[in-house]
Amino acid sequence: MKDFQRVLDTINETSNNAVERGTIANYIPELAKIDMQKFGIHLIDIGQHHFSAGKGAERFSIQSISKVLTLSMALGLIGENIWERIDVEPSGDPFNHLSLLELENGIPRNPLINPGAIVVADILVSQLADPKKEFLAFVRNIANDDSIDYDEDVAQSERRTGFRNYAAANLLKSYGNLKNDVDIVLDFYFHQCSLSMSCEQLANTFFMFINRGNCRRGNTFLTMGQVKRINALMLTCGFYDESGEFAFEVGLPGKSGVGGGIVALLPNKFCVATWSPGLNKKGNSKLGMLALERLTTETELSIF
Ligand code: GLU
Repeated sequence: MKDFQRVLDTINETSNNAVERGTIANYIPELAKIDMQKFGIHLIDIGQHHFSAGKGAERFSIQSISKVLTLSMALGLIGENIWERIDVEPSGDPFNHLSLLELENGIPRNPLINPGAIVVADILVSQLADPKKEFLAFVRNIANDDSIDYDEDVAQSERRTGFRNYAAANLLKSYGNLKNDVDIVLDFYFHQCSLSMSCEQLANTFFMFINRGNCRRGNTFLTMGQVKRINALMLTCGFYDESGEFAFEVGLPGKSGVGGGIVALLPNKFCVATWSPGLNKKGNSKLGMLALERLTTETELSIF
């Protein structure tokens, strides 16, 4: 076993001393209240050994990381039909960019940018009797953790300022790629983004992507084929218009969120989550990316 704890402790120390920490996502006012100085990291290996440093147990808003989980649930419900409504190409544009929708005739570029995730949300709203409750139950079940919950203040804060997401949803609706009411779909979307989880809870949840679709208790949530597809999407589309840079620096599939969280994983080996609220210019956690670059360089563990 690699000496993960030693590496995590070093990363934590470096991160705590960092001067350049990026800037916080203040377009969601509730997120702007978070202390910029925080840093956490948690790693679980395939043998279910846990390694943690800093604020690895403190909860934060997972934001776009939730897009991987809604996609997983939607794939389980409607299977490959999902690709009739969403493409699987990297966008090369920021997460909230709208022009791509028009270029692709209402088919969003991929499910991990906002327009794609809003279509996934629409699918869940169509498929589930009580979407918010059932999606939360799905996440709790994978994580084996009933304490996971939405942060209502964050959800409402984003609802009040989510003008671009309203624009994206309306544009999708105009193309016929949104079947339900815009407000209902976005209410679900803002709640999924508001999920409050720690690095430890994220690592526990994403364990299924390193373990052939099986959660820590051995229950199967995804087929191996679905895991392959989702991990490929995380590698090519998980970091907005910085996915190439993340592959270049870190070399792992992963997903970031504007709450400052990043999850990254190496199938059959480990899953790691980091949290530092300051974002770089592309909207990814500045210290989180540096931390993961250091982790894969020092342990020599990446998909490449
Ligand atoms: N709720 C955020 C939004 O839609 C998520 C963005 C992100 O984390 O990338 O703007």
